[in-house]
Amino acid sequence: MAEFDLIELIRMRCARARADVRLGIGDDAALLAVPGGQALAVCTDTLVCGVHFPKDTAPYDIGWKALAVNLSDLAAMGATPAWATLALTLPDADAGWVAAFADGFAALAGECKLALAGGDTTRGPLTITVTAHGFVPEHLALRRTGAQPGDAVLVTGTLGDAAAGLALRQGALRPGRGEEQLIARLDRPVPRIAQGLLLRGRAHACIDVSDGLLADLGHICNASAVGAEIDLAMLPASPALLGLVADDARVPLQLGGGDDYELCFTAAPALATGLLNDLARSGCAATRIGRIVAEPGVRVRDVDGAFIASPRAGWEHFSS
Ligand code: ADP
Ligand code: MG
Repeated sequence: MAEFDLIELIRMRCARARADVRLGIGDDAALLAVPGGQALAVCTDTLVCGVHFPKDTAPYDIGWKALAVNLSDLAAMGATPAWATLALTLPDADAGWVAAFADGFAALAGECKLALAGGDTTRGPLTITVTAHGFVPEHLALRRTGAQPGDAVLVTGTLGDAAAGLALRQGALRPGRGEEQLIARLDRPVPRIAQGLLLRGRAHACIDVSDGLLADLGHICNASAVGAEIDLAMLPASPALLGLVADDARVPLQLGGGDDYELCFTAAPALATGLLNDLARSGCAATRIGRIVAEPGVRVRDVDGAFIASPRAGWEHFSS
């Protein structure tokens, strides 16, 4: 199939009318109208086959995930998604593959009323780069800076599921009840867009958990020049994870496992309870997992309240 036919195939499957797309796929560049009073939030993420997703991942899931990881970044800024561009590098012009990929992309784009406004199509090792655009009033954007000593640290959803899904895919974890849910967390992450919007004006700092809780909370701490203490006993775990992974193996997945795409954020303790109620009503409950402190670094308390000597030593083993 020729490049033009592939682009047409993608355009047909991802077609969505948005009044602010003045000119979409088909010209040299898209013309997009940013609404007055809003800042444009822009992010790009690349997925490389065999690096960011297992080689045997279904094309539909790759399409979904390529958009989802970007929408997770917009969610973490408190932005509303609007448009995306798609740079697709394909080893061959396989129409069936591209159709399934576009369907996965379009399914999530449709849920978010996002329009695919352009892109590029090239031949090479399978690599997908999506740039997503969203809107947020500048003063309400959720940044990594702004966490303050005394803040509560919270996280949406559950942690460690996607890492367990990857371990299942790689044969490193024995299959059992709940395995489909864990693998689905890996292949079809759900960006926490509605939750990001609820955090506007209330969270002091926010990040999406893509590289693991310790690493990503560490980014908030560095950017905000503070530290954090996490209580191991508070980390939210899904029933599937609890059922399939024993305690010792679960902790490294929850602290260091990537790909969960939950939001980790900090807020004044007085606000935390109201936020927790609103988030629970939004369909994705959050959990308070610790606090921001003045001393730099992220420390983890075990169930007895004692600090774990080297929490990273436990999970780096899993992160190869
Ligand atoms: P140019 O040579 O001017 O870059 P292209 O042939 O690459 O033009 O693209 C033609 C049109 O198709 C452009 O509007 C471009 O944005 C769009 N396009 C190309 N590849 C993709 C893709 N993978 N997804 C969405 N739109 C694409
Ligand atoms: Mg081009």
